[in-house]
Formats: sequence, structure tokens, C-alpha cells
Amino acid sequence: MSRSALADDILDRFLRYVAIDTMSDGALIYTKHPTTDGQMVLLRLLEKELTEELGIKDVTMDPNGIVIAKIPGNCSNPNCLSIALMAHVDTASAVMGNGVKARVIESYDNKDILLGDSRYLTIADNPELLNYEGETLIVTDGTTLLGGDDKAGIAQIMGLARLLTSDPSIQHGPVELYFTSDEEVDCGMDYFPYAQSTCTWCYTVDGEKRYPIDTECFNAAANHVVIEGISFHLGAGRGKIVNAVTVASALVNALPQAESPEATDERYGYYCPLEIKGTLEKASVDVYVRDFDLSGLNRRIETVKTLAKTMESLYPGAKISVETTYQYYNFAEEVKKDPRAMELVRDAGRALNMPLVETLIRGGTDGAWMAQERKIPCLNLFAGTYNRHSVYEWVALPAMEDGSLLMLKMLELATNY
Ligand SMILES: [Zn+2]
Repeated sequence: MSRSALADDILDRFLRYVAIDTMSDGALIYTKHPTTDGQMVLLRLLEKELTEELGIKDVTMDPNGIVIAKIPGNCSNPNCLSIALMAHVDTASAVMGNGVKARVIESYDNKDILLGDSRYLTIADNPELLNYEGETLIVTDGTTLLGGDDKAGIAQIMGLARLLTSDPSIQHGPVELYFTSDEEVDCGMDYFPYAQSTCTWCYTVDGEKRYPIDTECFNAAANHVVIEGISFHLGAGRGKIVNAVTVASALVNALPQAESPEATDERYGYYCPLEIKGTLEKASVDVYVRDFDLSGLNRRIETVKTLAKTMESLYPGAKISVETTYQYYNFAEEVKKDPRAMELVRDAGRALNMPLVETLIRGGTDGAWMAQERKIPCLNLFAGTYNRHSVYEWVALPAMEDGSLLMLKMLELATNY
């Protein structure tokens, strides 16, 4: 099947970007921004392409690892909406993400795909492969992830930026492009220069597959529970020892198993004890809570605090403190206030005959931070990636091309919204 110039451009860019090692490092979030040097290498490359190749004049590189490019509008409507598009340069550390050797399958033949020496990407596990007969796919060599999360999003945004800057007949309002770092370790937006962001609406391009639009993400909080016990010699401990390890495990056991990540899906929120450590004298447990409704999240936070009190009653002498940190909020709250941000996506999808589906993301996005800080809608668009954070990750070029075309149509429609 012959490919469009846009698809060729997206493919070239994608292969160039995934070859750069950009795994972020959760151990360095308090000491280094971005946490790894490879992320800066990709950000500098993007800065260079935006300025030298695309000729965009307003491009800034924040030393904490954020590139912002602003393309002036060229439409006649002086009140035209300004749209921002955002993607992150880092890749997850759940599996090896450096040393990526992407392989392009020029024309997929509806068969299982051998990745490297021994692993297979099977149709049984990936029935969506069959949607791409004769199309271009990109796969791994079976030893690393691919990096489509979120370099597929970056390639789509850059492909779109090339169209906008090379074809003055495309009418659009002001467009802002944000490339962030350290999304996978939840701290990239801590350093985002929000004062530079002037968009009306923002969209992240960090969703899965082809056509899903994430219209909601979780509200999220972390509860750091610290238990102080009382230590004595074990041989003389009767009636005196208060074992912080025992109390910590009792608290974890008291969390409702029916509300755990392994027992919930769709709109159900959960509790998840993520880390437990300690000694007889002092122990700590981190309990993450998630819910699409803020009231549901707050109920779970209160429950953790109540359980802590209950444990103090059950284990007299134990002292338990709970420190709660809100991590991010459901961006749907801002979409509710300005639903046209979603209408624009629906209208663009209809105009292009794309069967968009509206979905929930059981996690957060950089857009959740943007929505929270700027009080603007920040929906998450699909990026054309499958099996993220896995050596079985793959990306479909037609899905990436559709992503760029959807954003292009959104920009065109936004000139008269
Ligand atoms: Zn991502």
C-alpha cells in the first residue's frame, strides 16, 4: 500500500526518536531534572527540528526538560481559540527502554510476528493486528519496549507541525506545542513553566490504540502511614512489645480486597498498598488511593485514616500517623466546565469519518496537571500504540497518521468555534 507524505514523515521521525535512550529514573526525581540525560538529547533534537527544519521562531527550552514551541495563527478570526498539543519524551522503566532496535514491517501479512529470536507477537493475543493487513507496523526486537509511549505522540505532533509550517493554505489559530520529560515517574509537570502556557484548551497525545479518546482520568492521592511501635528484648516482651511490623501488616490486611487494582476495572476506584517497610520499632506503608469521583477518593482517604485509628485501638501503645498527598485530579472536571473541548474532537472525528470511542484512563496524564494548574480542559488523544510498557509493544503507522489528521481537522474547525 502506498504511503502518504505525512505518513512517511511520521515514520521517519518516529524511528529517529525511538533510537534515543530516554528511560526516566524514579530514583532521581528529587535530585535531577530531567532525571536522565537522554531525555535532554531528544528535547534538544526537537528544539533543533522545530527551529531549523520547521522555521518556528518562538521555541524555548526550559533547563528542567521542557520544550515549548508557539506557531502563530494565520486565520482571519481575531478571537480564534488557541490549542496546545502535548507529549512526553521519556519512556517507562518497567522493562528495558534503552537500546531500542525498532523494526518496520512495510506490509503486514496477517500472520504472527517473530520479534528477534524467539518471542512472537501473536494474532491470538493481538486481534487488532488484523485491522492492518497490508499496512506499515513498527515492532521491537523482543528485548526492549518500543517507546511509542509517547514518541508516537511526539512524531504525530511534529508531523502536524511540519504540515502547518509548510502549507500556508491551512487556516489555524495559535498553536502551542509542549514536549515534557519524566512523565513516567510522575514529576515532569512539577517544573512546567505554566506562565508560558496561554492556550485555551490543551490535548495530550498519549493514549492507546487507534480512535480512543480518554475523557477522564483518576483522582489520585498517596497516603504515607507511619507506625511507631515499642521495642523490648524478645525474650522479655510479653505485654510490652508493640510490633510495628505486625501493625503495618494488619492495616494492609484490613484494606478491602474487593477495592484493589487487581479486582477492579472501568469506573471502580481502589486502594493499593504500594510499599511496606520497617522494623519492630518503626514501620511505614504507602497506600495509594484512586477514584474517578473526588468524593470517592476522599472517602478512601478517610477510611485509611480511620483504619489507622482502629489499629491504635487494637494495638495499644502503637502511634500511627497518616500523611496524605493529592497527586493529580480527574481532568473531566475542567471538561465539564467547557464541554466544547470534547465537542471539537467529536466534530473533527465526524468530519473525517473516524469511529472515535470515548474511554476512561485508569491512571493520570500530564494533562491532569495542566488541567489542575491552568483550569482548562486537557483531554487525551490516541497515539496509535499497543501493549505499552512491554517488549511486545507495537505501533501502527496508519493509526499515527490518523492521529495527526484528527488534530489537523481540530485546528481547522477551531478557527470558527
Ligand atoms: Zn505516556
